[in-house]
Amino acid sequence: MTSALDAAAHIALTEQFAAHNYHPLPVVVAHGEGAWVTDVAGRRYLDCLAGYSALNFGHGHPRLLARAHAQLDRLTLTSRAFYNDQLGPFVRDLAALTGKDAVLPMNTGAEAVETAIKVARRYGQERHKVDPDRANIIVMAHNFHGRTTTIISFTTDEDAKRHYGPYTPGFRIVPYGDLEGVQAAMDDDTVAVLLEPIQGERGVVIPPAGFLAGVRRLCSAHGVLMIADEIQSGLGRAGATFACDLEDVVPDLYVMGKALGGGLVPVSAIATDAEVLSVITPGSHGSTFGGNPLAAAVGHEVVAMLETGEFQQRARDLGAVLAEGLAGLPEDRVLGVRVRGLWAGVDIDPAFATGRAICEALMQRGVLAKDAHGSTIRLAPPLVVTEDEVGLLVDALGEVLTGPAPTEAQH
Ligand SMILES: *Cc1c(COP(=O)(O)O)cnc(C)c1O
Repeated sequence: MTSALDAAAHIALTEQFAAHNYHPLPVVVAHGEGAWVTDVAGRRYLDCLAGYSALNFGHGHPRLLARAHAQLDRLTLTSRAFYNDQLGPFVRDLAALTGKDAVLPMNTGAEAVETAIKVARRYGQERHKVDPDRANIIVMAHNFHGRTTTIISFTTDEDAKRHYGPYTPGFRIVPYGDLEGVQAAMDDDTVAVLLEPIQGERGVVIPPAGFLAGVRRLCSAHGVLMIADEIQSGLGRAGATFACDLEDVVPDLYVMGKALGGGLVPVSAIATDAEVLSVITPGSHGSTFGGNPLAAAVGHEVVAMLETGEFQQRARDLGAVLAEGLAGLPEDRVLGVRVRGLWAGVDIDPAFATGRAICEALMQRGVLAKDAHGSTIRLAPPLVVTEDEVGLLVDALGEVLTGPAPTEAQH
């Protein structure tokens, strides 16, 4: 299918009629297949953002498309007022994948985080008699958990928070990786510690070894729920089903999203113990689209694809290739590199270029990536890329870093 409008016209329409809550690279994508996308002019790009890891299985994975197509023709929505024949098998297998007893399905990541917060507060109040006005949740500085009013109440990103008050109380922020800080913040009114096992939006920041295990010990000792937001780090990206697995840590509650919908539909969920989820009663929480048959069918296929461990293995193998390539980048331009699975944060010397300028230069070389904050580039190609394609990415980045300093285009 060809588009009647050219790239400039599409960009103009979007800028005129859509809110300016993003600052996209000037590429207009019309088609995607596997790790590649094609723009309206027919130019191909290697997608090294992969929808912030929602596209872990690439664009249009045949298995996911087949399952979605079949379900589209049969049944798409019932609401939870009725049962449907897709939800049961999906939640059974997702529970098995997580090693937990029970699942609560939602749609977007932020909704799943909100669900985790509600479950933790209610569990603390009902089971541990925490005063509803005093219940607190310990969170990490530089977190990213989504965009709702409650979630931005405990962000440390001023752009995400400013002007949106009044803010939801009940959160205590400690430095990421600071176990003593977590311990000091924890008291009898603490119902949960909420963290990302790897901070993706911040630039793939990995906590010190032993931090997650330490939080696990503190939570167990104080009867506090450990909540792992694995929306971006989970489902294969980090080289394991969950990033927590890399540290042999089992949280009380997993929050999942992004890749759970296979890049086709929004699907999110929490998974936890039956005892914890038993606090949720009819009428106390819900979503019109949560657990809908189309989402459940796609999510079920995603779970089946993860059950074999094939994608987790690919992330480990290709991640090793990526790490080796990144280690060869010019040292005077790169301040730091962090890799976990097929997921990397590369800190470019800000004296050389901004992350945005680097991403624009990569785009000109046929590679799409996204800067995190400042001069950090986040790399997360779909787990279906080949070794050669990882090589293309590394070569393009190497070219940009050895050439003249790129500057941001005027806009
Ligand atoms: C993307 C993300 C979210 C929010 O998910 P949405 O689907 O955008 O609401 C929450 N937590 C983490 C770690 C994420 O990466």
